[in-house]
Amino acid sequence: MQVTEILKTKGGTVVTTSPETTIDNVARILRDMRIGVVIVIGVAGRIAGIISERDIARAVAIHGATLPAMRVADLMTSSVVTCSPENSINEIMTTMTAHRFRHMPVVKDGALVGVISIGDVVKYRLGELETEASVLHEYIRA
Ligand code: AMP
Repeated sequence: MQVTEILKTKGGTVVTTSPETTIDNVARILRDMRIGVVIVIGVAGRIAGIISERDIARAVAIHGATLPAMRVADLMTSSVVTCSPENSINEIMTTMTAHRFRHMPVVKDGALVGVISIGDVVKYRLGELETEASVLHEYIRA
């Protein structure tokens, strides 16, 4: 199965922000949208970075009370690993495991068309395992 199948179900909505947004605002976006990352869009509409709830949690320990007023650009990860709609779910699982992150923006022809999270991957795998189990049950009963 490919990433595009997951996007068909969950849709291609991507929550984005600019590098100048304050951490305070990003924390509100993460809470209000119930998501784990926001994609940062820079000049010419290009992906400039990604900021995750983990980045903010870690930064609390370093910056304390000055954190809310800091900018996304100060905390985001600039080197973003993306995938394409044609990548397989297995490839996504391998990449997420290797890099120890839980989100991947999906890019097609240079445009951001979705975000895949580890939650989406787990949901897909559970569905796949349930299908396998019911096929085996049918096979045994027949
Ligand atoms: P996460 O597990 O996705 O919450 O992110 C853990 C760390 O990896 C944070 O520092 C994120 O900024 C970073 N990160 C998350 N997704 C990506 C990605 N696709 N490419 C590069 N870094 C990422």
